Amino acid sequence: MKLYDKLFYDGQWQTTDSKDFLEVVDSATEEAFAKVVQATHADVDKAVASAKQAFTSWNVTPPEKRAAYVEKILAGIEKRQTEIADTIVNELGTSSTYAKESQLPLSIGEIKSTLAEFKKFKFEEEIDDALLIKEGFGVVACVTPWNYPLNQIQRKITPALLAGNTVVVNPASNTPLTAIIYAEIIEEAGLPNGVFNLVTGSGSDTGDYLTKHPDVAVISFTGSTDVGKSLYQNASTNIKKLVLELGGKSAMVYLKGGDLEYAVKASADTVLNNQGQTCSALTRLLVPEDKLAETKAILADYYQTIKVGDPKDSDTMVGPMVSSDQMKRVLNYIEKGKAEGAEVFIGGHRIDRPGYFIEPTVFINVSNDMTIAQEEIFGPVLSVITYKTQEEALEIANDSVYGLSGAVVGPSEAAFEVARQLRTGNITVNGGKRSAKAPFGGYKESGIGRENGLYGLEDYLELKVLFR
Ligand code: NAP
Ligand code: MG
Repeated sequence: MKLYDKLFYDGQWQTTDSKDFLEVVDSATEEAFAKVVQATHADVDKAVASAKQAFTSWNVTPPEKRAAYVEKILAGIEKRQTEIADTIVNELGTSSTYAKESQLPLSIGEIKSTLAEFKKFKFEEEIDDALLIKEGFGVVACVTPWNYPLNQIQRKITPALLAGNTVVVNPASNTPLTAIIYAEIIEEAGLPNGVFNLVTGSGSDTGDYLTKHPDVAVISFTGSTDVGKSLYQNASTNIKKLVLELGGKSAMVYLKGGDLEYAVKASADTVLNNQGQTCSALTRLLVPEDKLAETKAILADYYQTIKVGDPKDSDTMVGPMVSSDQMKRVLNYIEKGKAEGAEVFIGGHRIDRPGYFIEPTVFINVSNDMTIAQEEIFGPVLSVITYKTQEEALEIANDSVYGLSGAVVGPSEAAFEVARQLRTGNITVNGGKRSAKAPFGGYKESGIGRENGLYGLEDYLELKVLFR
């Protein structure tokens, strides 16, 4: 059992009086393999104080110099990418193929894109005779989830640091080890003391205390809508800025005349990769009534080819759920789906082996008012919903408290017509390629603010005007 008993602040690994530890569990074996110290409130105070002190000079450090530090962090991630991917497999349980071929390249690509965009960014603008100056807010508290352990942190600290802020990160309890490697990389990159700080510990204690802290200016949170809602209270203590990336219940809308096989596999892939623990997953597959039989045939064939198993095996697509709690949550939703009258077409059970494995599951005969169509399951569960007309498809897709992502597959003109009317932040039309320079984030209860590129940067900038 590996023991991590230090916290990173003021540029160093610091000891703590804490006697409490979080266990990190290998979800494929259910065995704890590491312990990470739970920061005390006194530790959080010290981390915030070091970030506050560092802010004064970091905020006036020339942007090119800040970018040069982020380049060094990027180089450190690239150098240690195999080790980071292996750590993500161990603590999250995602397949090694997904960790290596998706999670790591995603982070590296996004940092590169943000740096490229940053070169074009102007911190000062003229408005008539006035001078508009953009600068950092101060200390940003970053609270991150476990589903993409590296990228959820990167998406916050890359823009926050570039904009001139300093950060205190509290990573998810399930996946603190990737965050610890991140801190080591930052230490090696030689950032000025206090610019980046890491406090491990549970969100309900460490994260809650950190986000209430009077010296924190911005709360940047990714996670569930429930916790996101509770952060309005924490932000209200001293009118903190709130950046929220929350849940989703996105639809893949298939329109007649489009490539059905592509649409079915593209939505299925988002609930198979990462075990469906992806906020932008296309969990509702909308097809015309008279295409249901064909849809089922494609799904049956495709799911036969999916390998569920040890995430370390190179041919595994679906590994275990991140934790016992997450597995129970997903199994509960599956039972609710059955009880409300949806029909299990594929899967529907826990797999009888050690580890938190759930069969990839497909429901048919789902109506959009059922719990499994309204609430985020965050597991390998796809709901097929049928519709009669294009108008009805649009209505169903938009009938959600969420608005994060979506996809449309169909004849070009109709597909764009539907895409324009979807109330979500990101939509792929006929498999359009994503750009890491484009903003990512949600409408409605999926959050406020955007991540990536210059749009991500703007969330971390205060505006000051000098009238001269
Ligand atoms: P969660 O329970 O909301 O946890 C997210 C983070 O918040 C964790 O670090 C957690 O700490 C911490 N936290 C918990 N209670 C807190 C509190 N009272 N105050 C401050 N922090 C607190 O979500 P999750 O179950 O880990 O992650 C899954 C959810 O995140 C899904 O709903 C998913 O859609 C959403 N998500 C959204 C995006 C996006 O970009 N929109 C991306 C990924 C995930 P602990 O780990 O100690 O509990
Ligand atoms: Mg785990």
